[in-house]
Amino acid sequence: MTFELTDRQRALQSAAQELAEGPVQERAAEVDRTESYPWDHVDRLVEGGFVGMTIPEAYGGQGRSWLDAVLVIEEMSKACSVTGRIVVETNMGAISAVMAYGTEEQKRMAADMVLAGDKPAICITEPEAGSSAGEMTTRADRRGNRYVLNGGKHWITGGGVSRLHLIFARVFDEDGAEEGIGGFLAIRDETEGLRIVKREPTMGLRGIPEAEIAFEEMEVPPSMMLMPPRGLKKGFADLMTAYNSQRVGAATVALGIAEGAYRLALDWSEEREQFGRPINEFQGLQWKLADMSIKLAASRALVYGAARSGEGGFPDMLLAAQAKVMTSESAIQVVNDALQLFGARGYSRNRPLERMARDVRMFTIGGGTAEVLRNVVAGAILGKKLPQTRDGYLQPAAQRM
Ligand SMILES: Cc1cc2nc3c(=O)[nH]c(=O)nc-3n(C[C@H](O)[C@H](O)[C@H](O)COP(=O)(O)OP(=O)(O)OC[C@H]3O[C@@H](n4cnc5c(N)ncnc54)[C@H](O)[C@@H]3O)c2cc1C
Repeated sequence: MTFELTDRQRALQSAAQELAEGPVQERAAEVDRTESYPWDHVDRLVEGGFVGMTIPEAYGGQGRSWLDAVLVIEEMSKACSVTGRIVVETNMGAISAVMAYGTEEQKRMAADMVLAGDKPAICITEPEAGSSAGEMTTRADRRGNRYVLNGGKHWITGGGVSRLHLIFARVFDEDGAEEGIGGFLAIRDETEGLRIVKREPTMGLRGIPEAEIAFEEMEVPPSMMLMPPRGLKKGFADLMTAYNSQRVGAATVALGIAEGAYRLALDWSEEREQFGRPINEFQGLQWKLADMSIKLAASRALVYGAARSGEGGFPDMLLAAQAKVMTSESAIQVVNDALQLFGARGYSRNRPLERMARDVRMFTIGGGTAEVLRNVVAGAILGKKLPQTRDGYLQPAAQRM
């Protein structure tokens, strides 16, 4: 499958490549080593117009497509996966949910924050509700002219650096009757009761914090509730369709890391000589390089195709799931093979391969595990979804004995 890019897309891709191969690449190792959020990269992304690209022009963005964002994420991730993830989360996920379902006031607020460089945090996962996100127990109780949130989330990307938070919670009316799952917007340091509890010590992607967040009697006005199109009863699925964009973005980061590793391996295979010849003259390594290129070509086709399916809306759920499973799993293999081609040098912290191997490992887990996404794919191709709970339906954990 070939993908024709427009002149405008090619120009965007080259501008992203220039930034990625310059200052972004230069500091990638340091960002990892010091585990510090790359605010300098954020400033450059803002200057280059790479944040909020998908926000409509009416709200100050460029109204760009998911594929445009993918092209930028891919280039950044070849050099620095953390910077790639920042581009994902300033163009997809939480911001796209607000732009699709928010009120005028919510859209303006979120767009202004993102265009100034804020990477919103999306808060779904809880310690007892991971893959079964619908079992979350964080609750929002209506009390007069306020919602009061109590509960907690963990593994929230950007916790401690993000200001805008999109928090999913079970909503209860004044009489304590449950209404469904809704999304609430809150701003760290402005919304009292939002507390960053701790940062996770992660294997890779160390320049961006993963945090546990507590909501303690956190009060928000109803105007900060993000209303799903079908209302609170059935709306969680609607809110989650926005997440398909984030899945395509996550797949793109994995693709970019693997492409970066492959390029390094190709060059090294020509440069490194053993037995008096470049190591790429050994057929075993030629086949390894061939397999790597095949995996990358297949992944890129799926990722670009999934991104294109979302024109005028959100990427298709099946295509996004297929792209993320394929790309995340093959990217781990490609990076591992690239590291192998470097021999002992691949295992050194003085070279990027070990960082890339740690970074890429995440993508079969975060944003829907490869197993859960296979359930999504199976459900779509078979036209039936097997219940995952023993009794065949999802029941809020809070109501179970
Ligand atoms: C780096 C990172 C960043 C993240 N960022 C965010 C974020 O910003 N916001 C957020 O809300 N969450 C975030 N997450 C959380 C992520 O979405 C969850 O880790 C993921 O949904 C899986 O949940 P879990 O870790 O609790 O695993 P579990 O659900 O406990 O799963 C354990 C294992 O069981 C498998 N499994 C579970 N159920 C099934 C099933 N029905 N069929 C087959 N296999 C199954 C899983 O695939 C997995 O292998 C992040 C995670 C990571 C690692």
